[in-house]
Amino acid sequence: MDAEQFIVITLIGIAAAVFSYFNLLSSSGAVAASLTGILVWAGFGINGVIVMGTFFVTSSLLSKYKHKRKEYLGELHEKGSARDWAQVAANGGTAALAGLANLLSPDPVWLLVFSISLASANADTWASELGVLSKKWPVSVKNMKRVPRGTSGAVSGFGTAASAAGSLLIALSAYFLFGLEQRWAVAIFIFGFVGTMLDTLLGAYLQAGYKCVKCGLFTEKTLHCSMPTIQVSGYKKLNNDAVNFISCFTAAFLGMVLYIVF
Ligand SMILES: [Zn+2]
Repeated sequence: MDAEQFIVITLIGIAAAVFSYFNLLSSSGAVAASLTGILVWAGFGINGVIVMGTFFVTSSLLSKYKHKRKEYLGELHEKGSARDWAQVAANGGTAALAGLANLLSPDPVWLLVFSISLASANADTWASELGVLSKKWPVSVKNMKRVPRGTSGAVSGFGTAASAAGSLLIALSAYFLFGLEQRWAVAIFIFGFVGTMLDTLLGAYLQAGYKCVKCGLFTEKTLHCSMPTIQVSGYKKLNNDAVNFISCFTAAFLGMVLYIVF
């Protein structure tokens, strides 16, 4: 290992430790984020780490933004705001795999896969973190009924705008840092947004939903009011992390197909 490699790996580790200190990552999340950072750096260099950092920093800051108003989300969502390894893998796993792929077999397509998966992760996180602050209740895509803010598979105008902005930021970061062609920046933006739409559809139709047997709350938790909840919809294996991973991965895969075809 030369000096530069040592410095970059140390800095990625320190960044993960700082995120963990501020309760943005759990200890397993910090380890997963460090590994993801190292694979991204090995594949795409420091610019790749900056694009990934843009996602991590903005989504972490947004999750802390107006956190008092989001406290009720703790009742709906399976996990708290400190992201664990599964959440890191769900959002950054495809980017890490693209980094590894570019290291082993360099090809411009991996940069596209990397950027789209992060655009999708960023779009989804921005939609969740900002969408829940919307004044109106979102509409479930399944039955077009208004449901409580923070429900998976529901959309609001504000959340959709936040999602487009989240995808655009990653597309622009990749465009400027890697000097991409404009059409690829557009593709990253569009496929990032497609990833969020997939996330919403999977969240509505396939993600496991539970109901508290004591208070009747619909939740993503398997435990509520100190009692195991009962599953009322979706597939047990498909929690929010699985849905996030599948959406980012599929959006990136569709982008790859487009690249190969054209
Ligand atoms: Zn309950």
